[in-house]
Amino acid sequence: MKILVLGAGGREHALVWKLRESPLVEKIWCAPGNGGIAAEAECVAIDAGDVGAIVAFAEKVHPDLTIVGPELPLVNGLTDAFRQRNWAIVGPSQQAAQLEGSKIFSKEFLVRHGIPTAKMHGTFDTPADAYRALNSVAWPVVIKADGLCAGKGVFLAPDFADAKDFVERVMEKNELGPGGRRILLEETLEGEELSFIILTDGKRYAPLVPTRDHKRVFDGNQGPNTGGMGAYSSDELLPDDLRELIRSTIVEPTLHGLAADGIPYQGFLYIGLMLTKSGPKVLEFNCRLGDPEAQAIVARMDFDLAETLADVAAGCLEPSKMRWKPGASACVVLTSGGYPGKFETGKRIEGLTGVDNITGVRVFHAGTKLAGGTLVTNGGRVLGITAAAAALGDSLALAYAAASRIHFAGMHYRKDIGAHATHLRAAGN
Ligand code: AMP
Repeated sequence: MKILVLGAGGREHALVWKLRESPLVEKIWCAPGNGGIAAEAECVAIDAGDVGAIVAFAEKVHPDLTIVGPELPLVNGLTDAFRQRNWAIVGPSQQAAQLEGSKIFSKEFLVRHGIPTAKMHGTFDTPADAYRALNSVAWPVVIKADGLCAGKGVFLAPDFADAKDFVERVMEKNELGPGGRRILLEETLEGEELSFIILTDGKRYAPLVPTRDHKRVFDGNQGPNTGGMGAYSSDELLPDDLRELIRSTIVEPTLHGLAADGIPYQGFLYIGLMLTKSGPKVLEFNCRLGDPEAQAIVARMDFDLAETLADVAAGCLEPSKMRWKPGASACVVLTSGGYPGKFETGKRIEGLTGVDNITGVRVFHAGTKLAGGTLVTNGGRVLGITAAAAALGDSLALAYAAASRIHFAGMHYRKDIGAHATHLRAAGN
């Protein structure tokens, strides 16, 4: 099998690494890839969101299977272009990708199908209407920009002044670009968050192992939101009865709803949930694997990913083939100093030699590149140090031991990935 992977982050490195393990795989291209992916696949300098360029490349090299990592190619209609040509691809259609690309589309979908979610106060096309609505909501209120805003489009507003300021920045000053033209207001939910990710061929589906990510930049969930500072996976995150409740009240109604709306869905579907006192409720959909959740998930895969994804593309997913390593995994993200604000790149990365030889440890690259044979930083999130072990504490210890060997100027990482879960265990909860 010759496979084309689209994307440039740690998620794509993890996918490429796992695909390479398959005896079925002969060749992998990655567009555009990064400094770490370059060691395992042929990187091609094409923007993953450029549908025309990706189609032209595929026309030339004829991949047997294409796998889409990030959301932009999906929202831009890449999978539709491939399917029109009968080329095998994993990822939902442009229409289905609106579940991620438009918060209003996804909220209306949830409401239409009676799927538990935060109560919506309304959707607004003008700031004046939004300000008026803010006079009659309960605080704190959640404000969501409709379109893709690079993770900056959701704001939990504590009071009217902060809410007005956000709406002003998004709708009047267009600080988030076209994604902020419309907004929605919804109630604030309380509880623990959980990511529930499934893989589906449009008919059958399989849940992946449960994960939890860490969005804030500093320990103790302080500081601004990021793309993700780390994640862990452990079966204990999801007791059997909760998994069944999520399957019956969220996953299956979602897949039935999509089918009923005439929007078949194929690929990964990430469901962000809040586990509230009155049951799990949907916060958001992503039409792809999360990053860094993907790294923690891939570390626990005990099946042939290339075969499974080819089955998905062919519409014949066999969920029972998807076996998982028992135990746990963790991914600790090393970032450039200053991220998610301003940061410098081009810093030399040292200490990587031998880290991948530690049993259970894998270093997945995100923002790295090779400059004249030297590996340097090239983004906010630089590396995802990933480890799998029999217990969560062991996987965290391995990942942190490996992280402590790596260095680049300004390097930052959270020291408390998974700590909440290990504390809960220690307290017997
Ligand atoms: P979203 O992109 O919609 O998942 O929002 C990003 C983050 O904002 C989520 O992971 C939650 O932490 C938070 N969030 C979103 N919607 C709500 C809500 N209705 N109540 C509380 N927190 C929310």
